[in-house]
Amino acid sequence: RISIENFTKAFGTTTVIKDMSLEINSGEMLALLGPSGCGKSTTLFAICGIHRMNSGRLLFGERDVTRISSQQRNVGVVFQNYALYPHMNVFDNIAFPLKVRRDTRADIERKVKDIADLVHIGELLHRKPAELSGGQQQRVALARALVREPDILLLDEPLANLDAKLRLEMRSEIRRIQQQTGITAVLVTHDQVEAMSMCDRIAIMDQGKIMQLSSPKEMYEDPSSDFVAGFLGNPP
Ligand code: ATP
Ligand code: MG
Repeated sequence: RISIENFTKAFGTTTVIKDMSLEINSGEMLALLGPSGCGKSTTLFAICGIHRMNSGRLLFGERDVTRISSQQRNVGVVFQNYALYPHMNVFDNIAFPLKVRRDTRADIERKVKDIADLVHIGELLHRKPAELSGGQQQRVALARALVREPDILLLDEPLANLDAKLRLEMRSEIRRIQQQTGITAVLVTHDQVEAMSMCDRIAIMDQGKIMQLSSPKEMYEDPSSDFVAGFLGNPP
């Protein structure tokens, strides 16, 4: 379980996250859903350690990681643009986090093959990223994030760069991979249909605050405010 306690974040004099508390259950996929600028990415950056929190605590299970550097937190991250290393082939891209932490060659070989099979890119290990489709590149990014068996998988708008058909396919693929690995995951999105169809629970945010946290069904049937009802009802 991941716990965010009383998280506050300001850039200069502007406070963008206001005393946020959130618990993410082990094995669940939680959506951070909300309009542009509400603080979704800022929250994700704080969990992975790219941003420092101005105040508050972050716990991975019992372990307080608030002051631990991002390298020493065991997190897997997938961003909208995937950020694969263009000069490395697929195998080396996926192996990279394991090389950094000095796993043995045999361990690296085995772990990369296992995760590549799981995300269905086992046949593509010798290709360069430029020789892959958008969906295949996204699978590589997922494999690279998952290969180290992170405590949490963080996905920031992972489907935003895909065309409509591929987006549908990857929705169910990401969900399958999340469930098969049992990984705890946070999906950032401004797309309510994506959040509803992929996630166990949704935290809907507005202006740095969580407005409602519940299952998709409950949120849809019993929105707690006009903001939530409006956001769910009016696709952007
Ligand atoms: P989007 O859906 O557009 O990605 P978001 O919910 O991810 O939006 P954030 O990126 O978390 O939004 O930004 C929250 C607020 O913080 C915004 O008002 C943004 O302008 C501001 N912000 C984000 N990063 C910085 C920064 N490095 N310096 C100053 N302000 C920032
Ligand atoms: Mg964002």
